[in-house]
Amino acid sequence: MANAIIAMGGNVGDVRATFGAAISDICTLEQARLLARSSDYLTPPWGDEQQPRFINACIEIETGLDPHALLAVLQTVERKFGRDRAHERRWGPRTLDLDLIAYDDVSLQTAELTLPHPRLFERAFVLVPLAEIAPDRQIGGRTVKTALAELSREGIERLPAAD
Ligand code: ATP
Ligand code: CA
Ligand code: CA
Repeated sequence: MANAIIAMGGNVGDVRATFGAAISDICTLEQARLLARSSDYLTPPWGDEQQPRFINACIEIETGLDPHALLAVLQTVERKFGRDRAHERRWGPRTLDLDLIAYDDVSLQTAELTLPHPRLFERAFVLVPLAEIAPDRQIGGRTVKTALAELSREGIERLPAAD
């Protein structure tokens, strides 16, 4: 079994409800076990500021799938919740984005998948939720909390637990 970190994001629809349903699907489809789930966070849009704020969270799972098979499952779940890459702009509005942030200590770069996620260290919206569940995890030679200390958390708000 491997340990994987998945970052979740969205700013269209009832994103918190989507996260809950998506996590349950990921665990069923992959026969994965949920090890940890961060709080949900309201975050400023990144890369394209002309859109509503996002909600972001991170989960840690144990999985028997290899990284490419896991990515395929994540993309299936994105589509199920209305993600439509054919009609969206880069870093624009979306119902659900599931990024594979880290998979054990694997480093790889293929056309479909780069691990660890290449933009992780630029993104407080990923590192803030991740620091809540795995502050001491080493990714790409740095700990999550050290990497986060270099970024601004401005505009990021932790949401109280949903009902
Ligand atoms: P970003 O990758 O900057 O977060 P994005 O999530 O908006 O942007 P997408 O349109 O969701 O980008 O994905 C584009 C492609 O990125 C996917 O088709 C996938 O093959 C590829 N990809 C490469 N590495 C990863 C990874 N670690 N996790 C998820 N997708 C990845
Ligand atoms: Ca993304
Ligand atoms: Ca993505």
